[in-house]
Parts: sequence; structure tokens; C-alpha cells
Amino acid sequence: MCGIVGYLGDKQPQKIIIQGLKKLEYRGYDSSGLAIIGNGQTQRLRAPGKLKNLEEKLLGQNLQGNIGIGHTRWATHGVPNETNAHPHQVGPISLVHNGIIENYQEIRADLVKRGKKIISQTDSELVAHLIAEKVEQGNNLEKSIFLVLPLLKGAFSILVISELEPDVMVSCIVTGK
Ligand code: GLU
Repeated sequence: MCGIVGYLGDKQPQKIIIQGLKKLEYRGYDSSGLAIIGNGQTQRLRAPGKLKNLEEKLLGQNLQGNIGIGHTRWATHGVPNETNAHPHQVGPISLVHNGIIENYQEIRADLVKRGKKIISQTDSELVAHLIAEKVEQGNNLEKSIFLVLPLLKGAFSILVISELEPDVMVSCIVTGK
């Protein structure tokens, strides 16, 4: 079962996110990652395997920002590798996801038909595409997510941030029908 951590505030998120993910390690996972927004830019690092692999990648790095999200993944759609690890980023949007999007095949086919470039094998990245599309149409992050939720089937949770609104973090838990 995956772990999700988010931080928004006046401290540096990097350490807080890693500490939070460490507390969730007991839940089991196959890869991890984080995304931090600073000066309107996303800095994202992901690694397969144990959290220490992500920590090694972060060595000597001090990702500056005021908002960030982190994830330990339990793969359901796609092999455990760096490309499939969360957060998934589409344009200004970064997203972490727990659970399953049941209608992912239809959503994927529709996105592909509309020329979207899908990089991972996950159901999660598709949600990031849908939200990014709504943001591109001029909606704020919260509204974009509320427009996308009715398109998704299943029980899941997401945590999302955007370069365009670096003081906003939106989390949703959908319990399904
Ligand atoms: N279904 C998503 C994936 O395979 C999320 C898995 C999770 O809950 O960690 O990446």
C-alpha cells in the first residue's frame, strides 16, 4: 500500500517529505519520489527500490521551495521503475496517487486519440493529463480537479500541486461506489 506526504509552509519541504515517507515505509512499496516547486519551477526526483535510493539521488541536493509532495509506490499498473514512479508531472501539474483508476483503459485510449504524450504505464499519469488539460483551459487547480473527478471510476486518493499556484495543495479521497 502506497504512502503519500505533502508539505506547504515556510520550511524547506525536502527533509520533511523524506522523514514522512520513512514513517510510511512499513506499508510496503517498490519505488519512491518527490516533487518540490520553487520559483515557479518543479524539481522532481524518483527512484526504483528502497527510499535510500531516492536519498542517494538527493545527496548534495537541496531542492528549494515552499511546497512539495512525496510518494512511495505500490505498483498496480506498470512495472516498478523510475518512469512509473510518482509524482507524475504533466506541464505545471505534479500528482501522486494511491489506488486504482478502474476506467483507465478508456481514458488512456481517449488521451492517445487526442494526441497526448503518455510516458508511463500507470493509471496515475492519466489523471495528471486530465487535470493539466483543465488547467490549460483556464481553470484553477481546485476547479480542475473537481471537473476531472466525475470522469474517474474507482476508489483512490490523489495529492496535487501546480507551478501556477504554488500556495495551493489539493488532496482528494474518493471512496468509490
Ligand atoms: N495505480 C497506481 C500505480 O500503479 C498507484 C499505485 C499505488 O497506490 O501506489 O502507480
